[in-house]
Amino acid sequence: MTLTLLRLGLGRKRPPERALPAVPPLQPHYDVVVIGGGGHGLSIAYHLARYHGIRNVAVLERGYLAGGNTARNTAVIRANYISPEATTFYRESLKLFQNMSDELDFNILFSVRGQLTLAHTDASIRTFRQRAEVNTFMGVDSVMVELDEIAKICPQLDLSSHVRYPIQGGLWHPPGAIARHDAVAWAYARRAAELGVEIHTRTEVTGIEVENGRVQAVRTARGRVACGAAVQAVAGWSSEVARLAGIRLPIRSFPLQAMVSQPLKPFLDPLISSAQLHCYVSQTPRGELVIGGGSDPYPLYRTRSTLDLKESLIAHTLELFPFLARVKLLRQWAGVTDMTPDYSPIMGPSGIAGYYLDAGWGTWGFKATAICGKTMAATIASGTTDPLITRFALDRFKTYSQVNEMGATAASH
Ligand SMILES: Cc1cc2nc3c(=O)[nH]c(=O)nc-3n(C[C@H](O)[C@H](O)[C@H](O)COP(=O)(O)OP(=O)(O)OC[C@H]3O[C@@H](n4cnc5c(N)ncnc54)[C@H](O)[C@@H]3O)c2cc1C
Repeated sequence: MTLTLLRLGLGRKRPPERALPAVPPLQPHYDVVVIGGGGHGLSIAYHLARYHGIRNVAVLERGYLAGGNTARNTAVIRANYISPEATTFYRESLKLFQNMSDELDFNILFSVRGQLTLAHTDASIRTFRQRAEVNTFMGVDSVMVELDEIAKICPQLDLSSHVRYPIQGGLWHPPGAIARHDAVAWAYARRAAELGVEIHTRTEVTGIEVENGRVQAVRTARGRVACGAAVQAVAGWSSEVARLAGIRLPIRSFPLQAMVSQPLKPFLDPLISSAQLHCYVSQTPRGELVIGGGSDPYPLYRTRSTLDLKESLIAHTLELFPFLARVKLLRQWAGVTDMTPDYSPIMGPSGIAGYYLDAGWGTWGFKATAICGKTMAATIASGTTDPLITRFALDRFKTYSQVNEMGATAASH
């Protein structure tokens, strides 16, 4: 990034005006069709083109570029999960995020803040101890902290004992970070397009043709597109799109809401989350407080915001930071999130030859954008599932070998 800035500053050559090259007409055939133009789909397309030389690739997006959950998430990036499989997976994603601005020559505003998850009960303390052990063993920086250390990490928290749920301790994860979510998607899109990937927005996939157990083509609102392979990365619509190929996924989809406040002077460096209070808070570089919580309690395909969620989220946030009572909210929004029974993703082959799944990303998939692209592209290019994602295969639900991550996702995202 620094070198690029110097080169641009001293040289005469300026970057092209248009962010993405003009898209040619939709072709009748591609080697790989990526369904979904969010961060995951774009990252998969980029990795196929950049690292596997597969450039005859089309990304088909029914709306505008990265307008789904990529545009709606709260951008928490962390690796302190509870299972060894997930901890390793997110550890590798974190590493890719740390280097992403350089790799893509695009400033994604990656900002390391540290993430503090609060424990208000003995049960949480026990779970956090387990997480800290697993994390440390898997090479992820994550430690239990007591009240005196919490007071140093985040002096603004109400640590008194006269509140409904007094804070008892916490899990401190120094590499926890945030990044500009749109920038991540734009960066992958730009670099993929430069390598020859075609990104077709306003192109909804409405059907998937399978013959003799192999994917042949996708049908779109703009015509039929034959393909050697196809991968779906459609976040909240995973089960609907998989159904087009005749696949039934163990997924239920719930709205997940979030909100931001008016901008305030920077005061909150770490990312704070509390599973007990079902809320998490961070402050963006622009000063807004980003506040999120758990999913809505019933499955629904709607991205509306509700007053009850707003009230409960604010009430819980004020239990942690009472001095924010007079701060005003700026916006509230929602995305549709796909929840699997074990709170882990579904990645890899689908059971239909040439058709791949990148699904079940629930409330935690932004931080996986980089590693998903890398591992899914390697899987599609080689036809062999990348070792990092074998445990997230769809058939784990048939063999009762789930990867239970419920405790570590909850309201931490
Ligand atoms: C409020 C909220 C907060 C979140 N916070 C975090 C967080 O802090 N950290 C974290 O790691 N994760 C978080 N997440 C989860 C994260 O946003 C998602 O897991 C991630 O963005 C998924 O990326 P994606 O590219 O798969 O999905 P998307 O960005 O949703 O992209 C999928 C695309 O597929 C398109 N599509 C759907 N159907 C079709 C079709 N038939 N044909 C063509 N295109 C189609 C959609 O239009 C969409 O653009 C949050 C989610 C929400 C809603």
